[in-house]
Amino acid sequence: MKGSVLVINSGSSSIKFQLVDPDAGDAVADGIVERIGEPEGLVKLRHGGVDTEHRGPIADHSEGLRQAFSMLAEVGLDLASAGIAAVGHRVVHGGEVFYQPTEITPEVLAEISRLSELAPLHNPANATGIEGAVRELPDVPHVAVFDTAYFHTLPARARTYAIDRDVAREHSVRRYGFHGTSHEYVAGQVAATLGRDVAELNQIVLHLGNGASASAIEGGRAVDTSMGLTPLEGLVMGTRSGDIDAGVVTHLHRSAGMDVEEIDALLNRRSGLKGLCGVNDFRELRRLIDTGDADAVLAYDVYVHRLRKYIGAYLVTLGRLDAITFTAGVGENVAEVRADALAGLAGLGIEVDPDRNTAKDRGARLISTDDSAVAVLVVPTNEELAIARAALRFAR
Ligand code: ADP
Repeated sequence: MKGSVLVINSGSSSIKFQLVDPDAGDAVADGIVERIGEPEGLVKLRHGGVDTEHRGPIADHSEGLRQAFSMLAEVGLDLASAGIAAVGHRVVHGGEVFYQPTEITPEVLAEISRLSELAPLHNPANATGIEGAVRELPDVPHVAVFDTAYFHTLPARARTYAIDRDVAREHSVRRYGFHGTSHEYVAGQVAATLGRDVAELNQIVLHLGNGASASAIEGGRAVDTSMGLTPLEGLVMGTRSGDIDAGVVTHLHRSAGMDVEEIDALLNRRSGLKGLCGVNDFRELRRLIDTGDADAVLAYDVYVHRLRKYIGAYLVTLGRLDAITFTAGVGENVAEVRADALAGLAGLGIEVDPDRNTAKDRGARLISTDDSAVAVLVVPTNEELAIARAALRFAR
């Protein structure tokens, strides 16, 4: 276990953790601390194919991590004595300040907290998790890896909203993009799978999980992405609306008397697939479609329609396209979405092979026909491994 990296993704009441062997690319163990601050907390750990659980109160993030570490020690993974190389922290918003993995100092932590202004749902929890982890593991480097970082290269024409420039500047209103660690990792895997250099390829990457985003990547550099100031913009997601006329917000405020918090909850938690048909998980959506549920059919159609719009836009943005890749929960598992997203595009040189698309393989794979000018791939994302490798660069 020496040389492994602990990767931490903190939410407001939970911490996902994974102990990663960055050389082998494997998770040695992973787990989640849940219901922090509630009377009945829960820590789950998976190691060597065996699941263990611990229930009891967890006062704060620091205590949650202490419990997780003691469970790791019980299965022979004592972090304190084993000499882990680094801790990598997923941080959602890096604003205009952070666009590289950054070793955490008190100043960096203060800046991450300050950026809560732009990501009130995420950065405060990320900062709390970092504080707890530094307290528990003070002798190893802690490294923040930002979800926005990869999109630092967006050209001004893609990152700029067409609103009053002074308001935009004063309040840092621009498109930042999210899921960057995944888009960058997947773009690299595409190049490796095709046996090409990432610098030679123009790519569209479709990260379709509970959250969903698309990116246009030119020679390894992101030139456009669908998420914006926040992770709300773009594709239809599990519970988020994606693109919507901003006039809907003012209309709901004026006509329905909804306040900012209510509209925020509506668009982030009661929209997307869930808003349209009551379920946000694609497996349940498909079950509903099979029963002939008209709302579920419409939800699926809206989802695919939006996806096709982005594919079309990015095809033209890039001009020449070498690869389109599907990743994350839906992208990796739902062949029907992949087929429908690219149906009827043979004239544009994009042709999915139905047998390859529905084959039960799990690794990175090509699903286009041999005649397709554009390679279509499925690539499993692995944000934890990407974070672990980034953090390892700071090992002492
Ligand atoms: P997150 O954004 O939470 O990281 P994931 O990338 O894990 O999400 O994707 C989760 C979503 O992927 C689930 O909500 C579900 O809709 C979908 N999903 C995962 N596995 C499958 C599967 N085998 N079949 C259909 N959908 C799946």
